[in-house]
Amino acid sequence: MSKNISAVKKLSRNLWWSWDTEAKELFKNLSPLLWEKVNHNPVELLRHISAEELEARCSCELGITIDQVSRRFEDYLADKNTWAANHAPQLLSRPVAYFSAEFGIHESVRIYSGGLGILSGDHIKSASDLGLNFIGVTLFYKEGYFRQYLNQDGWQNEDYPLQYPESLPVEKVTDEDGKDLIIELTIAQSTVYAQAWSLKVGRATLYLLDTNIPANEAHYREICSRVYGGDQNMRINQEILLGIGGVKLLKALKLDPAVYHMNEGHSAFLTLELLAEQLGKGLSYQEAKAKVKEQCVFTTHTPVPAGHDRFSRDMMSYTFSKYLGQIGIDFEDMMKLGAENPADTSGLFTMTVLALQLSRCANGVSKLHGEVSREMWKHLYGTDDPNQVPIGHITNGVHTRSWSSGFTDRFWKNHAESIEELFSSRESAETVLARVSDSELWCMRYRLKRNLMDYISRYLSNQLYHQHQYTPYKPADSSRSAKSILSPDVLTIGFARRFATYKRAPLIFQDLERLNAIVNNANMPVQIIFAGKAHPHDDAGKEYIRQIVEHSRRPQFLGKVIFLENYNIGVAKRLISGVDVWLNNPVRPMEASGTSGQKTVLHGGLNLSIMDGWWCEAYNGTNGWSIGSGEENDNYDEQYRIDAAHLYEVLEHQVIPTFYERNEHNIPVRWLKNVRNAIASIAPVYNTDRMVKEYTMRYYLNDQRP
Ligand SMILES: *Cc1c(COP(=O)(O)O)cnc(C)c1O
Repeated sequence: MSKNISAVKKLSRNLWWSWDTEAKELFKNLSPLLWEKVNHNPVELLRHISAEELEARCSCELGITIDQVSRRFEDYLADKNTWAANHAPQLLSRPVAYFSAEFGIHESVRIYSGGLGILSGDHIKSASDLGLNFIGVTLFYKEGYFRQYLNQDGWQNEDYPLQYPESLPVEKVTDEDGKDLIIELTIAQSTVYAQAWSLKVGRATLYLLDTNIPANEAHYREICSRVYGGDQNMRINQEILLGIGGVKLLKALKLDPAVYHMNEGHSAFLTLELLAEQLGKGLSYQEAKAKVKEQCVFTTHTPVPAGHDRFSRDMMSYTFSKYLGQIGIDFEDMMKLGAENPADTSGLFTMTVLALQLSRCANGVSKLHGEVSREMWKHLYGTDDPNQVPIGHITNGVHTRSWSSGFTDRFWKNHAESIEELFSSRESAETVLARVSDSELWCMRYRLKRNLMDYISRYLSNQLYHQHQYTPYKPADSSRSAKSILSPDVLTIGFARRFATYKRAPLIFQDLERLNAIVNNANMPVQIIFAGKAHPHDDAGKEYIRQIVEHSRRPQFLGKVIFLENYNIGVAKRLISGVDVWLNNPVRPMEASGTSGQKTVLHGGLNLSIMDGWWCEAYNGTNGWSIGSGEENDNYDEQYRIDAAHLYEVLEHQVIPTFYERNEHNIPVRWLKNVRNAIASIAPVYNTDRMVKEYTMRYYLNDQRP
């Protein structure tokens, strides 16, 4: 094998390539058509490309690129002068262990469902970039999250394509003797076995536990089928595997984390295994609790009581009695750890309560969410005063390098040393922006929009083809040609996220007449692109999808309102880079943070959002728009009407006129001022480098509290 081919293979085994523009383009250029076919998966690409093609590509035109990219990759891995080395050297000898039920790192690794996973993925990438000694722990889902396709009526259907280890850059974890490392854990009356895999994410390692091995009963093999699949029983089993299995794995690897970070309550059972460890050393139960508390930090993500994982007393008893016997913890004592009212253990066991009780600090994911969480959990701390509740906040961000497209990256590199200059500080962002003229900025926008329109037209022809395979329905010609009507000259609004009902995807359709006037205004037209998946059990969310598809087929909206199937990281990257406006209209205060709007900023997109989550902090009157001013109403329908009215108002009077206000060169000067303000005020703050630094200084280093 030539030196170049082995270099490419090596690059494919570490997801670092997924946030390096040249590395991404290198894989694409090995075989552009195959690259699309394998869902941008280098491991699959290298399995399927012919030896001749690979040899030819590697030996001539791509040789220099391979050299350059490989050298940069090796330098990255070897770099000792990192942020962590300079600011948190205490943490270099022992790892931070970060537990999350999902990680959204790249579209080709389907172990995520939505925002929580994207956040974990962006967190581990920044931890790697900053040089933290960092380990992620999650499950290896064989089916991942579902692939969405719509039937002729616009109703969501799911299928679950399998993903195999040989198609992914995962390695089996082995023990000292080179044998497969198998973790054993007790669930109900059974012993369950888990194989461990590892996945390299730059300098960080993500471990994945996998029960889908012959040693297990079928019932337990399915724990690792689907992200958030199955019933309550499946859920508790997944959470035991993640928490307890994860701690056992780290112990088997002889890793001794400086801190355990629970990203959401799913992994909170890890505290039980840590308790077991302390009890095993001879500590009393109280001492053990205190010790575990010192080791753990917790991030909560759910601002509504109903959203928290809870398990019945019966289920807890059935699932844990044998395990508790093994580790020497009394069942009532365990129930107290998860009881909202410690004096009453007859009710549900709440994972968030367990996590809060056994962590040294806890945080919400935006300023507002911190406030909401303190109010929501104050009873646990025996106080009526939310200010007494020790839950802080660290606002979410995004891993900017991952979310910048090749085109955007090159654009900024023409004006700066690197894209980092745009998000390292406000001052440096402003310096870069001062070098960019309005016409250059507007050209970039136009190119990005045209790229998106081209992508959508290809995507839609597949989607329509696929939809009609399943039915004898012949597409109306109008809906087929509709796809070409999208125009880069038209103000384009994007809305894409999970179709949880509180996100209210169909809000903009509340008044069809008014929307018709907006969309079809001859001088100032608007087009809207939707995408998103509803959880397979969420019929209300699916109904929202169906409604939007129905609206999109009305004559007045045909070709102007589009629904794209199968939202995922790949689709997200296209949308956030191309749209002019990113729309976000959840019921305040239910969006703990939201991050998708942060991704659009460096591409010159602007946010139009309810005052909720991160937007409450970020909006300053000149960097996008707010829908209303933070109204809350206990009546869902009432709130819906109020927010819809505010949405129309701001669209009609601010967003649309600003976009279509042009100077003599047809450039929207005032719009671009907003774009500049958005970049300077948002990019340097709402990124995961800033976020992970904050976690490190305030939470991972033990010397400071919230
Ligand atoms: C960013 C992202 C999300 C999170 O979106 P929110 O704004 O937090 O709702 C969900 N899914 C995908 C695929 C994403 O890229």
